[in-house]
Amino acid sequence: MQLFENQPLKIYNSLSGKKEVFTPLSKGHVGMYVCGPTVYSNVHLGNCRTFMSFDMIFRYLRHLGYKVRYVRNITDAGHLVDDADDGEDKIAKKARLEKLEPMEVVQRYTVDFHNILDQFNFLPPSIEPTATGHIIEQIEIVKDILAKGYAYEVNGSVYFDVATFNETNEYGKLSGRKLEDMVANTRALAAQDEKKNPQDFALWKKAEPQHIMRWPSPWGDGFPGWHLECTAMSTKYLGETFDIHGGGMDLKFPHHECEIAQAEACYGHSPVRYWLHANMLTMNGKKMAKSTGNNILPGEIFSGENSILSKAFTPSVVRFFMMQAHYTSILDLSNDALLASEKGYQRLMEALTTLPKLTVGTKTDFDIVAWKQGCYDAMNDDFNTPILIAQLFEAVKRINLVKEGKETITAADITLLKESINAFVFEVLGLENERASGVDSNKLGGVVELLIQLRMEARANKDFATSDKIRDQLAALGIQLKDGKDGTTFTVA
Ligand SMILES: [Zn+2]
Repeated sequence: MQLFENQPLKIYNSLSGKKEVFTPLSKGHVGMYVCGPTVYSNVHLGNCRTFMSFDMIFRYLRHLGYKVRYVRNITDAGHLVDDADDGEDKIAKKARLEKLEPMEVVQRYTVDFHNILDQFNFLPPSIEPTATGHIIEQIEIVKDILAKGYAYEVNGSVYFDVATFNETNEYGKLSGRKLEDMVANTRALAAQDEKKNPQDFALWKKAEPQHIMRWPSPWGDGFPGWHLECTAMSTKYLGETFDIHGGGMDLKFPHHECEIAQAEACYGHSPVRYWLHANMLTMNGKKMAKSTGNNILPGEIFSGENSILSKAFTPSVVRFFMMQAHYTSILDLSNDALLASEKGYQRLMEALTTLPKLTVGTKTDFDIVAWKQGCYDAMNDDFNTPILIAQLFEAVKRINLVKEGKETITAADITLLKESINAFVFEVLGLENERASGVDSNKLGGVVELLIQLRMEARANKDFATSDKIRDQLAALGIQLKDGKDGTTFTVA
């Protein structure tokens, strides 16, 4: 029997605005789609929080015994600077500014994204499809929506006809908006605008001659609208109806609303059974934004190279900090909050080191079975990680009481407690014990960089004996140095 059979899970569904019992479409299997990053800049910490929330959800569903197909896409085309279908493609703009090929921009920031997520100990999704890899599927959907009368073509572009759709369906149901109100609150279209109504959105955009990211289509050379890729990739890999669709709160409108409209227009029914939205991260009480300087990159937190925090914090501490808030609540990052999380994380890891060394007693003064169910109850209540963490600290308190000789625990209960804590701390919350691994990867990186520097100096002084010794002894430890045009890099085996 799998855990999910006796641990009923409730999920807050943004579509119904209620907590609902989670029952997947096919028993034991879960299909989950999460909108991934647009890879035109280094991944934001706020985005990391969103993806971390879904990493935790993915981990807990797996822990319950579900077979999860988790699809998280990479947006590498079609996301315009202005969400209202105007302006330049975000990736093309970056490519122009940095004099790179758009795919160089995509490659660079996809690598950065994976690197940061690795440091945060994310599990990879089951499939990570790209928008540019699914142009044919997107064109097919546009053709289908046109054939069904929910879209119109103007001058090489195709727009979704929201008013027509709203006659038979309900546009705005996810974000709680009414089309009449939207119409009343938007400015009239400019004369040169191709759209019939401002609410209409692009399914396919004609590429102007200077637009470099372009593909042939029945309507001429162009590129897909941003909302279309998620419909194409989610239905391709998860089916026309699937269990969970997640993303940041900011994507609810227009992005997810448009996804619902596209799928309903195409397939005649709602695509998603449970919509989940993760809330945002603020810093020192204010919205994080590059333009105001109230912004910090994950790498700057790990290295300590920033003017906002008093010291460096490891990825596990930042992860622990993020898990201390419920994924649907706004979380505020500050130096004090990170310092407090670091303390808490260390106390938790210390208790894990203490646990196997406890003196074995003849009875246990603490109901471990009830405590363990308390951990499940927290997670079954819409993935309530702050309550889970409070429950873990209840165990920490008991471990310390046994250590001080004030309570006792049996050998069997030490094993049960250890297994349960390990499952929740490492498997579900995805934390890593940085003490157990001896040296954390940031410190190791710093040491190797220092040796690379010393080797360069030795070579500059023609002291090849020393430079070879550094290279060979690092190689013996499984650390390979590679000399390239832009300096020396290293890999750890
Ligand atoms: Zn999406």
